[in-house]
Amino acid sequence: MRSKKKLCVAGNWKMNLNLSQAEDFAARFEQIYRAHPQVEVKIAPSFTNLYRLVQLFEDTEVDILAQNMHWAEKGAYTGEVSAGMLRSVGVYGVILGHSERRAYFCETDKELRRKVQTGIENDMEIIYCVGETLQQREAGRHFDTVRRQITEVFFDLDPEDWRQVKIAYEPVWAIGTGKTATPGQADEMHAYIRELIAGKYGPALAGEVMILYGGSVKPANARDIFARPNVDGALVGGASLNADTFNDLVEIAKGFFE
Ligand code: PEP
Repeated sequence: MRSKKKLCVAGNWKMNLNLSQAEDFAARFEQIYRAHPQVEVKIAPSFTNLYRLVQLFEDTEVDILAQNMHWAEKGAYTGEVSAGMLRSVGVYGVILGHSERRAYFCETDKELRRKVQTGIENDMEIIYCVGETLQQREAGRHFDTVRRQITEVFFDLDPEDWRQVKIAYEPVWAIGTGKTATPGQADEMHAYIRELIAGKYGPALAGEVMILYGGSVKPANARDIFARPNVDGALVGGASLNADTFNDLVEIAKGFFE
C-alpha cells in the first residue's frame, strides 16, 4: 500500500467572491487556520483578487494560485495574463486545463501543452486538470480520455519538470453537481494515471506525483476520499468559498498525519 507523505487541499474559487468578500474570507481563514507541514493549502481566486490575497496571506503557508494563464510572455493577446505578470505579483502557481475552460473557452490539449511548457519555463507550480464527461464514462472511454489529456500534454517533459506538476482528476459529471465519484472510482483512475506516468518515467517518479481528486468534495465525503492510497488531496470548488468549510477540509487532511 502506497503511504502518503503529504496531502494538498486547493480551493478553486472560479468566478466567485469580489474583493471585499475575498478580504472577509482571508480575515476569517487567518483566525482559524493552523498550518501543518504535511498539508499544502492553496487558494485560486479570480485575477482581480490575486495581488490582494498574496498580501493578506504573506505571513502564512497558504499559496495563492491563478486559475489560468496565457502561454506567451507578452504581446497582443487582449484579456490575457502571462506567467511573468503572475510572478510579478507573487503568484507562483496556476491551475491549467480545468474542464470549464476546456468546455466554455474551447481550450485544447495543444494549447494546454504550450501553457504547461510556459509554466515549467517560468518555474510555476501547475495543477493540471483532467477528467471525462458523463458520455465518455458511459461509453467506457474514461481511461482513454484521461490518457490522451496527459500523454499529449506532458509526455515530452523532462523528469525533473514533474516536480512542478500536480494532476487533478475531476470527472466532469461530478463538478458542481453534488455527485461525487465514489472513493473507489477516484482511486481507480488515480492508480491508472500513476501507471501511465510510471510507464514513461518509472515508478519512483510516478509515486511522487501528487494526484488530487475534484468533484463536489466537502467535509462529509473528504475523509473517505483522502483515505484512498492514490489520492493526495482535493481540488475543491463550491466548498472552498466559505472559510470555515474550507478549513474543515484542511483539518480533515491534517487528521491523517496526527
Ligand atoms: C472544481 O471546480 O474544480 C470543482 C471540483 O468544483 P466543485 O467542488 O464545486 O465540484
